[in-house]
Amino acid sequence: MLYFDYNATAPVMREAREAWLEATEKIHGNPSSPHAFGLAANRAMTEAREKLAHSLGCHPLDIIWTSGATEANNMLMHHFAQALEARSEVWISAIEHPCVHDSAKHYFGRRLKFIPVTHDGVVDMEWFAHEMADTRPGLVAVMAANNETGVIQPWRELHAICQTYEVPFFSDAVQWLGKLPAKGLGDCDYLSGAAHKFGGPRGVGFLKVPHRSKVNSLLFGGKQEKGQRAGTENVPIIVAMLAALEAREKQLANGDHQHRAEWKEKFEKLLLRQVPGSTVVGASVPRLWNTTSALMPEGGQQRWVTRLDKAGFAVSTGSACTTGKEEPSHVLSAMGYKPGQVTQVLRFSSGWETTAADWEALEKGLVRVYGEVHQPK
Ligand code: PLP
Repeated sequence: MLYFDYNATAPVMREAREAWLEATEKIHGNPSSPHAFGLAANRAMTEAREKLAHSLGCHPLDIIWTSGATEANNMLMHHFAQALEARSEVWISAIEHPCVHDSAKHYFGRRLKFIPVTHDGVVDMEWFAHEMADTRPGLVAVMAANNETGVIQPWRELHAICQTYEVPFFSDAVQWLGKLPAKGLGDCDYLSGAAHKFGGPRGVGFLKVPHRSKVNSLLFGGKQEKGQRAGTENVPIIVAMLAALEAREKQLANGDHQHRAEWKEKFEKLLLRQVPGSTVVGASVPRLWNTTSALMPEGGQQRWVTRLDKAGFAVSTGSACTTGKEEPSHVLSAMGYKPGQVTQVLRFSSGWETTAADWEALEKGLVRVYGEVHQPK
């Protein structure tokens, strides 16, 4: 079985497994405890905080550990709901992950405004610059790279405009981390990430906030994380997360992803040629080297996924949260695709263990499945 669903979750890297095992065996204490065991746990957690801050380019005290990105993103929206003036608007891109979209909708209702995207799935910079010159939202949120299409967003430029107007900028960097170098992401005022997307364990992530400000906790009952997130930190999975990120950063520094991008490009060319009527989403803009989002010409997306699964390929219909239901993708809708098209999308997301031969096998598998779903009239 070949795995093409890294954007949903990635296999845990050897480095992370070993780090987790070692930390589990050796670190028994609660990092808040005053004795030697507690101090050892605290030291390991502090070291992990320093490593993450170094990778992102921010202050170690900017980092708050969470159970993942859903918690981090909800925590941020909850904080701004309390911190902003009652009339302040919050602007998010129309292609944010549901955990940003739904929490922002919950807390801000009519004060929530969507930043449109182009047909290629990039935030509309002209719209943004024009609207910002006119109104000042209390927060702008745009992800670093989209989970469904892999389209890279101009987060540096957006942040620069926000800085000019002194508007806080938040970026969900879940799909960027581990796939592209992390350096510079720490410049964003607020940032979130999740270990399981870059080869770390599931159930751990972080929220980066300016350490001089204090974020209102979503949870009560403990003073952990400077009173910003109650609950005992899980030190072994935090340590394992950093082991995975360090391993990925090293591979990225060696240019590991460049030839991987070539394999994906070759796959896309063959797909367009061999499966008539297929389209690659966001084909003309920079995308993550691992992701292809394609509209298939016939047959419902669930039929494709099931047949591909039987043929030995694990692929997805879009974001993991909507998989299993043939739900229209809000990302493709925002990009201007028609209702009939948005349920035709398949996502192929590879990773650091995917080989050129895997991509070739997938292409051949798609051609076979196309032959099965295509009924000549
Ligand atoms: N943000 C993005 C862009 C994602 O792709 C995901 C997961 O698919 C999340 C947030 C949620 O992350 P987690 O699974 O850690 O809660």
